[in-house]
Amino acid sequence: MQKVTSTPADDSACGWYHLSGPRQPRPAHSGMKKARWTIIGAGYTGLAAARQMALNFPDEEIVLVEAQEVGFGTAGRNAGFAIDLPHDIGAEDYIGDLETARSTLKLNLLGQSVLRDIVQSNRIDCAMRASGKYQAAVTRRGLAVLDAYRRGLDKLGQPYEIIEGDSLPEHIGTAFYKRALYTPGTILVQPSALVKGLADSLPENVTLFERTPITEVEYGEKIVLGHANGRITTDKLVLANNAFGMRFGFLGRTMLPVFLYASLTRPLTKDEQAALGGKSFWGVIPADPFGSTVRRTHDNRILIRNSFSFNPDGRPKQHNLGRMAKRHRVSFERRFPKLPNVGFDYTWSGSLALSQNHQGFFGQLAPGVYGALCCNGLGITRGTVTGTLLADWIAGKRSDLIDFLLSSSGPNKAPPEPFLSLGVNATLWWGQRKAGLES
Ligand SMILES: Cc1cc2nc3c(=O)[nH]c(=O)nc-3n(C[C@H](O)[C@H](O)[C@H](O)COP(=O)(O)OP(=O)(O)OC[C@H]3O[C@@H](n4cnc5c(N)ncnc54)[C@H](O)[C@@H]3O)c2cc1C
Repeated sequence: MQKVTSTPADDSACGWYHLSGPRQPRPAHSGMKKARWTIIGAGYTGLAAARQMALNFPDEEIVLVEAQEVGFGTAGRNAGFAIDLPHDIGAEDYIGDLETARSTLKLNLLGQSVLRDIVQSNRIDCAMRASGKYQAAVTRRGLAVLDAYRRGLDKLGQPYEIIEGDSLPEHIGTAFYKRALYTPGTILVQPSALVKGLADSLPENVTLFERTPITEVEYGEKIVLGHANGRITTDKLVLANNAFGMRFGFLGRTMLPVFLYASLTRPLTKDEQAALGGKSFWGVIPADPFGSTVRRTHDNRILIRNSFSFNPDGRPKQHNLGRMAKRHRVSFERRFPKLPNVGFDYTWSGSLALSQNHQGFFGQLAPGVYGALCCNGLGITRGTVTGTLLADWIAGKRSDLIDFLLSSSGPNKAPPEPFLSLGVNATLWWGQRKAGLES
């Protein structure tokens, strides 16, 4: 058996996880099991793939295996922006090639509509709201990014509104930013509540095992997945475990596990809400990709998300949390001098899979092994739609979106260590330094 050399082990401090409704995790697997279909990873991609496989193969059992508890991993740790628009940070105007951008927009809209339908039909309580997003800037560099993105949106024919700094407090309370570009299509969610709800509304022919990290694998006519308490032997395997897919022997050195950090305040009091002003629910993403994401949540907390670290094994470093909480505090105080005594209840980290060329993988990895991997930081919509379409493709369906995904060159290879860590750390350090006041 080949060893899976690293498995997920997220920190236990994620606010979204603790504040979403408690649920009874499904039992871990133990003993021997045979299955026709097994999916690894119950984030957006794996949950969507499992649901769609179950619909495509209604008479078959679909096994879904998750290392941790559903809602505890990255899918429940993100900032909760289910974004419609393409956001190609490699392109000068964030839109890049028009044909690619149109297909990306179609994919993201489909991802949103799949999620919206499931949330509505199963009454998942995840504070899902179509509130749009503000992309906000404070520095000259940030304002130039907004200009470029505006040109990109014109090219793509997508609506937006420019809001100047003096009007922004009516929207988001703070007078910190100089300008924002508001786009109406983003949906905001409580991410951990969403994934818990997705897991609890899976079709009956999905068997979900939680707290079952797969630690060994053997490929052959049948694929054997080993873990501490048993084995699952499967005909076909779908990898939906993002950068951990590399630990199963595929796409080596293509997906970079980059950790992001977020903090959530205590709920604002009525007086604090009045002092802050603005709308009661909103989300801001930074003009500079290294800047801060900020949200006012449905329960009147403020979320700050900024700072990065590169942890090649995909596992968090506990000692980073205190340092990042201090950075979040500085970012909070810059934006909210009107809220002097509002402390953070939670600070946590989560990893995403980035590739150098901003491409993900979709398709077949080896005989009987398929994957939808590397969401490049936009996994809520992207993971949902790629998981869904992978299940369709496996079932023999074709569409222009499936062809588009299959035609991707996939994530490209990064240099070997120690050059990889040196290069990524230098890029992160320089990017965060350049972001300046945007963070
Ligand atoms: C702080 C932060 C903010 C973010 N903000 C946003 C945002 O606003 N909008 C957005 O779209 N995205 C955002 N992201 C990124 C988003 O969370 C990811 O892109 C998304 O979770 C990817 O979904 P996924 O299902 O492909 O992978 P994941 O969510 O990573 O799920 C993969 C699952 O596989 C499991 N797994 C891995 N290895 C094994 C194994 N050996 N055995 C069993 N199970 C295994 C893991 O435990 C995990 O649950 C953010 C991420 C972070 C960390």
